Amino acid sequence: MHYQSTRGDKKRISGSEAIILGLSNDGGLFVPEFIPKLSLEMIEELASMPYSRRASYIMSLFLTEFSIDELDQYTDIAYSTDRKNGFKHKEIAPLHKADNNTQFLELWHGPTCAFKDMALQVMPHLLTASLKKSGKRDDVCILVATSGDTGKAALDGFCDIQGTKIMVFYPRDGVSEVQKLQMISQSGSNVNVVAVEGNFDDAQTGVKEIFSDTALNKELDGSGYTLSSANSINWGRLVPQIVYYVSAYCQLLEQNEIKAGEKVNFCVPTGNFGNILAAWYAEKMGLPVNRLICASNRNDVLTQFIKTGIYDKNRPFYTTVSPSMDILVSSNLERLLFELSGKDGSLVASYMAALSAEGKYFVPDSVHAELNRLFSAGYCTEDDTKETINDTYRASGYLIDTHTAVAYKVLKDYREETGDNNISVVVSTASPFKFCEAVLEALGKKCTDNKAILIDTLSEVTGYAVPAQLVDLKSATPRFTDSVEVPAMKAAVIDFIGGR
Ligand SMILES: *Cc1c(COP(=O)(O)O)cnc(C)c1O
Repeated sequence: MHYQSTRGDKKRISGSEAIILGLSNDGGLFVPEFIPKLSLEMIEELASMPYSRRASYIMSLFLTEFSIDELDQYTDIAYSTDRKNGFKHKEIAPLHKADNNTQFLELWHGPTCAFKDMALQVMPHLLTASLKKSGKRDDVCILVATSGDTGKAALDGFCDIQGTKIMVFYPRDGVSEVQKLQMISQSGSNVNVVAVEGNFDDAQTGVKEIFSDTALNKELDGSGYTLSSANSINWGRLVPQIVYYVSAYCQLLEQNEIKAGEKVNFCVPTGNFGNILAAWYAEKMGLPVNRLICASNRNDVLTQFIKTGIYDKNRPFYTTVSPSMDILVSSNLERLLFELSGKDGSLVASYMAALSAEGKYFVPDSVHAELNRLFSAGYCTEDDTKETINDTYRASGYLIDTHTAVAYKVLKDYREETGDNNISVVVSTASPFKFCEAVLEALGKKCTDNKAILIDTLSEVTGYAVPAQLVDLKSATPRFTDSVEVPAMKAAVIDFIGGR
């Protein structure tokens, strides 16, 4: 299996090279040359296997230079419940049945309590193995721009992994208190965390600029370092995410909720378009999917795009209670545009040029129609987010976080609009304990001290135990307190690498 850029560069590279590079030299993202097929019989076979084996199998179809034995080794470690820092649920990504046609896919039982763990627990293994395969002896420095959850999950995944350094940039005022403390108290000798004076898009743009700075990259190469990315622009993040869509279907089969071949909907709270794009790949492989419902918060640039075919980021940026979706430039959409426009790299390059020059592009009717064959979209206001958390908790005792609430509300609206009664899976992306303040407020407990961690308060109010992964957070000591302006990000990277 080879990979190519979404922007027309004709170079074909291997999966491991794509994982090392993260981003193509022409600024594009790497995509597989074809999408492997998954038969219904194979899905039924996977249904009798544990999560780690489902993961090895799906990953082996895309990462053909890795043997099944190698992948088994990585997934055994990554999706283990035996490690102290491992997953806390034996199913790894369990379903919670809310009613006869609604299921929540809980992707937050990993070490950092957000769905980013699903990919970032296994990706460091893929990256270090890729470096070995390539014969490159450089150390790798991972740069991450985070809206909150990727940062911690990447720090946890790469902490003290030999031959790697990791540097995380987060928007200073754009993450929850729990997210921030999780990051700035990270242990490990190869890690660094810096706040950026700006929002997530600023941080992401800053990181992308560092990647495409040829002079800097040459200089780093000379001193034995290669830059790479752990953001969802990296193919090594996307592949492991395809797994849980297949796995959710396997569980529905196992639990006799569906018949083999029956189509289901997935409703996904979306920011950078990585999570829902993985669902699209799963469908293209052959997973029986009816609709993919893209859920946005107030920053509904994606919803507007899916409805109109016009992508326009010239609009206010809102800081919301679902900060991991506060994004106006959804990087992974580029991969979908490439696939939907007949793999026309120069067309995609022209969209992206228009996006950076005018903040706007539109796709032809044919591409828009293709998009609407599978995707629906909706958005959720701040009030509706909180109301959904409260209603769900009062009605059933089930506590969901703000991002999951956005998706649940959008699903309800979609059903009302369409009457579609297929079984729907709401993708639940974070533990409510990562967003205590907003969840407490939703439950009618307004907190005045907005710097408090509030984990214990949420536990007392709801009777839910504090997740084991977060118990020690209260007593954690901040290690990283620096903040930089966007133009100073590059110097911060050089400093960090220099001080090895
Ligand atoms: C990252 C994140 C999202 C958005 O996922 P994308 O892949 O960026 O679309 C949604 N919810 C939570 C809790 C997240 O951490």
